[in-house]
Amino acid sequence: MIQLNQAIARIQDSPTLALTAKAKQLKAQGEDVVAFTAGEPDLDTPDHIKNAAKDALDKGLTRYTAVIGIDELRKKLADKYNAAYGLDYTAKNVIITNGGKQSLSELFAVTLEPGDEVIIPAPYWASYPDMAMLIGAEPVIIETTASEGYILSPEALKNACSDRTKAIIINSPSNPTGSVYSAAALKAIAKTIKSLPNAESIMVVSDEVYEHTIFGGGVHRSILQEAPELLEQTVISSAFSKTYSMTGWRVGYAIGPVDVIAAMSKYQSQTTSNVCSIAQYAAASAFDDNLAFPKLLSSEFEKRLGILLSELETIPGLELPVKPQGAFYAFVRVEGLFGKSAGGKKISSASDFADYLLEEYKVVVVPGEAFGDSGAMRLSIAVSEDSLRKGLSRVREAVSKLS
Ligand code: GLU
Repeated sequence: MIQLNQAIARIQDSPTLALTAKAKQLKAQGEDVVAFTAGEPDLDTPDHIKNAAKDALDKGLTRYTAVIGIDELRKKLADKYNAAYGLDYTAKNVIITNGGKQSLSELFAVTLEPGDEVIIPAPYWASYPDMAMLIGAEPVIIETTASEGYILSPEALKNACSDRTKAIIINSPSNPTGSVYSAAALKAIAKTIKSLPNAESIMVVSDEVYEHTIFGGGVHRSILQEAPELLEQTVISSAFSKTYSMTGWRVGYAIGPVDVIAAMSKYQSQTTSNVCSIAQYAAASAFDDNLAFPKLLSSEFEKRLGILLSELETIPGLELPVKPQGAFYAFVRVEGLFGKSAGGKKISSASDFADYLLEEYKVVVVPGEAFGDSGAMRLSIAVSEDSLRKGLSRVREAVSKLS
């Protein structure tokens, strides 16, 4: 019998992907499921990107590319971040990866040692801790509360840091809460990092994959805009997936110090090689629309958020204390239902409620346990208005049956 190693035993299947697959499977079986699981926009990839992919095919751009990615795309990304953040990156600072996910897992693989600590503010995107654990590093979870707007405070950060701290993850806009770090909050975090005795050896991982999904005229700020002194120790991770409805194309990237990017390329050369050539050429055309599509997506999601907010007001026991300012999720608190039961089943956690919704009402949500907070559930608003209303009306009925 083939023995699996310890690394794989330490981690779990991605809960967000597992639940998305479960919802798809139930739909395929003909079940009338409403899925609030999707971590992907429901609009199609815009035509200018699809046309660029067709062009690449017609031109025969179907061979290996440089492992690190095509120059055209890396240069465009360097220019984009230079213009937005006032930096001086070149293509050498950029690697194209198989989605944002590979940029993070690869970054961890080339920078972390077993026993290193990675600071992760909760609620967090489900994959961060497991990615760290795969390397044998230790996630150090800092809980943030709704009353703090789910924003990491400098005090909490300081208390959680030790001489083994190797990395800190900042995710703004946040999955799952939709919180957006203000300039002041980012400055305060940067100041705290710089005050630590091991400041120079701490890496800041800035996951900005939702950077263009912002509501209410808000703005996305990157820690590098607020603290350029962190330039040599910060890596930005992002992707085209959420911004341009390209989840299936798998084009992500990391931008950071040249030696780190080169190490990631070395790692990638021995593991997956380049990202699909056609997908890279397609992505290289994305920004040609001057962010028109991401703006359209944001306004669409903001409209749906409005529907969700007004529906939620009519469901006693559910709360959304922090209105999402970006991304496309609502992290709805369900503690108000704890202790209640229906049909002999008691609700004591978000998972219990999620199971109840799935089994009795065919509504699929991601319970907060997946994000390190068992008092809430994540609803994706990347679903049609009809599904949103239908799903929330089922949730209302489900809650009304609890006593
Ligand atoms: N990031 C999305 C989510 O949180 C997509 C699935 C995944 O890779 O986690 O649902």
